[in-house]
Amino acid sequence: IGVFFRPVEKINAVIETYPKGVAGFKRYLEFLDTRSDIVDGPDAVEAPTLKGEIAYEGVDFAYTPGRPVLSNLSLTVRAGETVAFVGPSGAGKTTICALLPRFYEVGAGRISIDGRDVRDFTLTSLRRQVGVVQQDVFLFAGTIRENIAYGRLGASDAEIVEAARRARIDDMIAALPAGLDTVVGERGVKLSGGQKQRLAIARMFLKNPAILILDEATSALDAETERQIQTSLTELAQGRTTLIIAHRLATIRNADRIVVVDENGVAEQGSHRELVATAGRYRALHEAQFDTAG
Ligand code: ATP
Repeated sequence: IGVFFRPVEKINAVIETYPKGVAGFKRYLEFLDTRSDIVDGPDAVEAPTLKGEIAYEGVDFAYTPGRPVLSNLSLTVRAGETVAFVGPSGAGKTTICALLPRFYEVGAGRISIDGRDVRDFTLTSLRRQVGVVQQDVFLFAGTIRENIAYGRLGASDAEIVEAARRARIDDMIAALPAGLDTVVGERGVKLSGGQKQRLAIARMFLKNPAILILDEATSALDAETERQIQTSLTELAQGRTTLIIAHRLATIRNADRIVVVDENGVAEQGSHRELVATAGRYRALHEAQFDTAG
């Protein structure tokens, strides 16, 4: 899954605000090399401010010809709804989400936002309104200010500070000798996993997209950090359409809807309460996780 979203970083780097410095430029070249096939259509227009109603209609997708990952997938998500995707590894949860900002192209069918095919929009304007928070946070060598501002080029200091506050990373930044000017990355201050996650959340508050894709971390954070990050993510999801690629059932109970994906597509969907009341895939997954948790 980490590998899957690597292209996201590359694309963000180019389309949005490709970070300065050698690392950023290298990503830029890698991107040109590998993903230059996804481009604006000849009639692509700037996306208006989106509400975030999403529809997958009869979507087929394969990474390799003849090996379909999604077949005739149909799914709608209301504006502002939080939908968590669960299911076995390899079922296609990440793929479903990655198609929305066109990191990959559908083979058949279409994906629309607010009733318009995502291919109608320019990639830049589409991706400006679809934010991705990955488990594998991408930091580039630069200051904390630059790393947060990566969420939106040209943000003012006041906006950056406000985003840091909402992500509850402001105290940590204030405690650093150089504050926002502290250099992070290989030659700077090394941030913990939890701090990196918060920085990514601050970025996303700044970006303020209508649609949010959360690729839930599988790596272990301590329970307290995890709880705090969960709180910040819940706040971040407020007022946005949110798709969660979920790995731990405990964190998705509060989703408006849970979509269980298996090798045949959408196996079942409903709220946590509805799904545990049905003898299906979700209940089995839930019981299995409950058992291992003791
Ligand atoms: P996980 O829970 O392990 O993250 P997932 O449900 O998110 O899994 P996907 O990552 O969407 O599943 O993968 C769906 C299928 O597509 C898998 O068979 C996977 O091996 C394959 N796949 C994923 N990414 C690529 C890729 N970049 N190239 C080729 N095949 C891929």
